[in-house]
Amino acid sequence: MKTLFYPFVLSILGCFFTSLTNASEVIKLEKNIYAIEEDGFTSLVILSNNGVLITDPANTLRAEKLQKQIKTLTDQPVTKIVLSHEHYDHVGGTEIFSKAKVICHSSCEEVFQLDTRNITPKKVHITFDKKLSFKFGNTTINLHHFGPADGFSSTVIYLPENAIAFSADLYADRYLIPGIWMDNDNYLGILNALKKMQSWQLKHAVNSHATTTSVKALNENTEFVTDLYNLVNTNINNTISTEGVGKAFDSINECSQALKLPKYKHWTNYNTELPAHIRRMALSILHGG
Ligand SMILES: [Zn+2]
Repeated sequence: MKTLFYPFVLSILGCFFTSLTNASEVIKLEKNIYAIEEDGFTSLVILSNNGVLITDPANTLRAEKLQKQIKTLTDQPVTKIVLSHEHYDHVGGTEIFSKAKVICHSSCEEVFQLDTRNITPKKVHITFDKKLSFKFGNTTINLHHFGPADGFSSTVIYLPENAIAFSADLYADRYLIPGIWMDNDNYLGILNALKKMQSWQLKHAVNSHATTTSVKALNENTEFVTDLYNLVNTNINNTISTEGVGKAFDSINECSQALKLPKYKHWTNYNTELPAHIRRMALSILHGG
């Protein structure tokens, strides 16, 4: 199994991930449960006798490739699409699956109404607020919204009987996500979601932009974000107690250059992107987002 995290590449407007390879990968996690990678996106794919559930088709081209792969596994049509969050690089291509009901956190719809790129689903059929549980064939599906994390609608898909979870854009594999992608992240929300996922004692942690389903990356990143929080929070509290909260805000940029987490110095982008992660964490702590 590869442990590659696909580099983030800018497209015309905003968050659109592309891969360096055209290879696809089908990973069987359990009977009827697969992680299928195409074009730098991995979808959770669940088969049943009455249809197929997928996550994040991503875009039209990738959705067509995913549909082809699914047809090698079953004759059943895709009947449910669960969107991990509202970001446009994840929510395109739903039109390829004409029989599918689209499921997304309730905050998706407001964002989709603002779409000027004509990427987002024409219709969201099912929404939920905090949690949605349902059976899909024999598989129990729990959709959890733990609050804003990467975007407002950040949803973790959890299969409790299979110890499998799917998440998107909450972490990468020993790779610091470039700061440009984190401007609307709530780092406390990300930490909260990672800790919840870790508490589930997963067998497989499927990550939208990675082909590894190992829980190692989840555990390492939970540790990284916890260490980052402790470092930044201690610094902020020291500054507030000695110089006041105004100074804590004013010194965010200075601290982002001065603070270090050498334990992670071998992670890709450590030198260039750690300051952005410190800034994002500082704002999440000081400003709530
Ligand atoms: Zn995202």
